[in-house]
Amino acid sequence: MNILIFGPNGSGKGTQGALVKNKYNVAHIESGAIFREHIGGGTELGKKAKEFIDRGDLVPDDITIPMVLETLKTRGANGWLLDGFPRNMVQAQKLWDALQSANIKLDYVIEILLPREVAKNRIMGRRLCENDNNHPNNIFIDAIKPNGDKCRVCGGALSARSDDQDEGAINKRHDIYYDDKTGTLAAAYFYKDLAGKGKTTYVELNGEGSIDSIRDTLLAKLA
Ligand code: AMP
Repeated sequence: MNILIFGPNGSGKGTQGALVKNKYNVAHIESGAIFREHIGGGTELGKKAKEFIDRGDLVPDDITIPMVLETLKTRGANGWLLDGFPRNMVQAQKLWDALQSANIKLDYVIEILLPREVAKNRIMGRRLCENDNNHPNNIFIDAIKPNGDKCRVCGGALSARSDDQDEGAINKRHDIYYDDKTGTLAAAYFYKDLAGKGKTTYVELNGEGSIDSIRDTLLAKLA
């Protein structure tokens, strides 16, 4: 099973993605997480990517596209859920071309819809667990408030991503996401168009519901 998931930063994409990953037992490939691994490991790629990430800009395509396509090959042999990629039209087209030439089916494309202001507030409140980035913790959302300063799922230590606390960087990320001409929504609509031609299945979800209700709707729509 091969799945793409779209949603603005703050839409719960990572949380829902983790559920989808567990349902199908596929690799959860997150472009942002791969970059953070490189930065943590002090690699050349990480050093190059960091300045773009800290500003809230996209890392250039000539770094990002080969990195993601390579990861799909090495970690995605038994299926994948790709999260955070594609983020623009060039990436969307290159991914589709790569899948076509390798004869790989794209089973589902999921889009989580959420108004921009709602997404922004959620981002500023979210906290990352040291044990699992997809343990949901958000100081502004009652249902997933951390346990004091610890993860509500496992008690792990929490931290905030530096690019989550910078309003300018958040706005930039959302400018890119909500751009339906060349940005991430354009990439999502590229696949929506392909779904209209019967080449994949497009699933739209209202991101304003609770984690559980979105999950139930999502799992009901997937085979
Ligand atoms: P994320 O964890 O998805 O919010 O990604 C964190 C940052 O990594 C983004 O703000 C970008 O700077 C970079 N990044 C992640 N995915 C991509 C991508 N597909 N293309 C370019 N840059 C990306």
